[in-house]
Amino acid sequence: MALPKRKISKTRGAKKRTHKKISLVSLNKCKHCGRMKKPHAVCPYCGYYNGKQIIEIKEKKKEGKSKS
Ligand SMILES: [Zn+2]
Repeated sequence: MALPKRKISKTRGAKKRTHKKISLVSLNKCKHCGRMKKPHAVCPYCGYYNGKQIIEIKEKKKEGKSKS
């Protein structure tokens, strides 16, 4: 098996990883209810997409994230 000739230094390893990062989740305003939602997805709050109701929302989602 081919093996690397030299050890890659800490700095070189770190430099390689500078581009590797998680980007922020993009959000758009829902046209129906005005809340923030993911683009190209049915709104999780009102169930609308492209001016039509796609899914029915039975339970009202609580505001804020609950830690479990
Ligand atoms: Zn909505």
